[in-house]
Amino acid sequence: MESFIAPRRILMGAGPTEIPNRVLSATARPTLGHLDPAFVALMEEVKALLRYAFRTTNDVTFPLSAPGSAGMEVCFVNLVEPGDRVIVCRNGVFGERMRENVVRLGGEAIVVDHEWGEPVSVERLAEALRANPGVKAVAFVHAETSTGAQSDAAEICALAEAHGALTIVDTVTSLGGTPVCVDEWGADAVYSGTQKCLACPPGLAPVTFSPRAIAAVKARKAPAQSWFLDLNLVLGYWDGGDGGRSYHHTAPVNAIYGLHEALVMLKEEGLEQSWTRHRDNHEILKAGLGTMGLDFLVDADHRLPQMNVIKVPDGIDEAAVRRDLMAEHAIDIGAGLGPLAGRVWRIGLMGQAVRLENIMRLLSGLETALIRQGRDLKRGNAICAARHVAASFARAGAPTGERAIAACAA
Ligand SMILES: *Cc1c(COP(=O)(O)O)cnc(C)c1O
Repeated sequence: MESFIAPRRILMGAGPTEIPNRVLSATARPTLGHLDPAFVALMEEVKALLRYAFRTTNDVTFPLSAPGSAGMEVCFVNLVEPGDRVIVCRNGVFGERMRENVVRLGGEAIVVDHEWGEPVSVERLAEALRANPGVKAVAFVHAETSTGAQSDAAEICALAEAHGALTIVDTVTSLGGTPVCVDEWGADAVYSGTQKCLACPPGLAPVTFSPRAIAAVKARKAPAQSWFLDLNLVLGYWDGGDGGRSYHHTAPVNAIYGLHEALVMLKEEGLEQSWTRHRDNHEILKAGLGTMGLDFLVDADHRLPQMNVIKVPDGIDEAAVRRDLMAEHAIDIGAGLGPLAGRVWRIGLMGQAVRLENIMRLLSGLETALIRQGRDLKRGNAICAARHVAASFARAGAPTGERAIAACAA
């Protein structure tokens, strides 16, 4: 056995994404005790930075010591009691996992189902709320990574609140990439992950709970079924209150150094600027894909800029394209999940590390792979179109996406 040397990859899938050196170096600093005053001060900074990222003043905002899936679980296990009815809006993989959480906790899941690729329908949710008065919560995925669709969280949360229901919101793929505005939405239990648009190593789940959600946790008839995820116990460590902090579990100290650095970088850049950068990168990619006749699964109004789900054209071997990208460019893109397996590619443009050169390399590699499979494409068109759009962000009056595609095809 020898030391493991990770091969170099360009991560352009559904996460993890490339981690900036600043973040990786932060994780290599000396480990402190999990109750060391210096570490406790860092925990407070991380909480404040997460409030910035989530746009919330919620007291209970911290990174759970486990991946995004545990962020989902901590919301359900604390809020759903046996017999509770929860409306789950399902429009992809992660909505289905929410349903499973409800059922495993002895709750009743009322599923509002959608075609994959659709955003959550506010009209159909309204019908479900009218038909099921007194539901405890409405759960939905803001940014469905399996399909690339973004739902209108503000409308969904307002509707739920008007019916007296709490909201459980998955923002794993949206946090840092597209607007997540917890307080403006009035969202109650919101979880995310570190390895998507925050460009941080996987393994932590930022979460935030409104005072209303915390009141519901305190009002439980019986303690949460999970000891590790019981908020009342976890907060003894992350919050402590007047009694001071006590040991609950040993925090992943070095991972939290990394999250702190990633959030400092987000603050330096500015949240709004980060959203703009994700959108700009999406426009650049879209122009290049347009020259190859590639189309998105999701309609333009609901597309996630950071998760581009592209339909595989008829007659193309989608797995062979991914193999070519990996073999020739070390580019890792995502495959379709569930009913979309074999039908889509998922191209992630997430985080600080997405650079123009990566997008260009991907477009060039994709073009070559499609030509190899018999597509009649003019080599270099994709990069040409993408370059025009990239330039347009730096210079006023330059061609927009559509015109750039036309200019390059001519
Ligand atoms: C990635 C993802 C998760 C799960 O996060 P893990 O860190 O893989 O556990 C949950 N929801 C959505 C929308 C995701 O994209």
